[in-house]
Amino acid sequence: MINHYPHRPGVLCLSGHDPSGGAGIQADIETLAALNCHALPVITALTCQDTHNVAAVLPQDPAWVARCVALLQADQPIATIKLGMLGSAAMALQVAEIAQGINAPLIIDPVLRAGGGTPLADSELLSVLREQLLPRATLITPNLPEAQKLAGLDEQASVQACAEQLLKLTPAVLITGAHDDTVNVTNRLFTRHDGNHSWDCARLPGSYHGSGCTLAASVAGLIAQGISLPSACQQALDYTWQCLLNADQPGSGQWLPRRI
Ligand code: PLP
Repeated sequence: MINHYPHRPGVLCLSGHDPSGGAGIQADIETLAALNCHALPVITALTCQDTHNVAAVLPQDPAWVARCVALLQADQPIATIKLGMLGSAAMALQVAEIAQGINAPLIIDPVLRAGGGTPLADSELLSVLREQLLPRATLITPNLPEAQKLAGLDEQASVQACAEQLLKLTPAVLITGAHDDTVNVTNRLFTRHDGNHSWDCARLPGSYHGSGCTLAASVAGLIAQGISLPSACQQALDYTWQCLLNADQPGSGQWLPRRI
């Protein structure tokens, strides 16, 4: 006899592929599986990279991505949408159009730079993010350098100054603090409607690849389960911290979060 379990919430992931297995769409799939969600992975860009850095990016065809999403949308419910690396301004424009056509919370990891330093978004892509995607978002999850860039501020700008600017563009921003050099990492959520929140965690010693992807995917999965935005952020930060605590170093570069 076949058991028909209630289906897991579907999370549409529009992200890049990282063949080292640390970041991108693999991070999304692993995270969502661990949180009892079903990833719908649509790849926006291929990358050539190892655990040190990204060597090359091959953006995918925006029309192909639109075609994939249209089929999925007609076939099954989409509980939330999670965006990662988009790869080109043309793809970002296509993704903005796709997001307008789906009535689901939108979680954006604004991927601007690889951990190894390679830029992953040009100024045109940054403009589309700011003008077309941030206004449609439910939450964006930048680290401080990404928040400064998105807010159009310099590298000295404080977390508060970034949040103030970003809340003019988007309803909620979770700014992660791993790039500071403080003893503890402070992660701060600023929102228009759900108050402001701050969570501290112990700083872990490694340099990790795919931590931002893990965080954004876990928030998307928890929101798909019906959890409120502040609780989803808190639980996603806890889950991500555990994945980093259990990380391993399969190559000679950054450590990879263990998500399952
Ligand atoms: N997505 C892809 C495909 C990437 O290659 C990268 C970084 O190299 C990221 C996302 C962002 O990774 P992280 O979570 O380490 O910021």
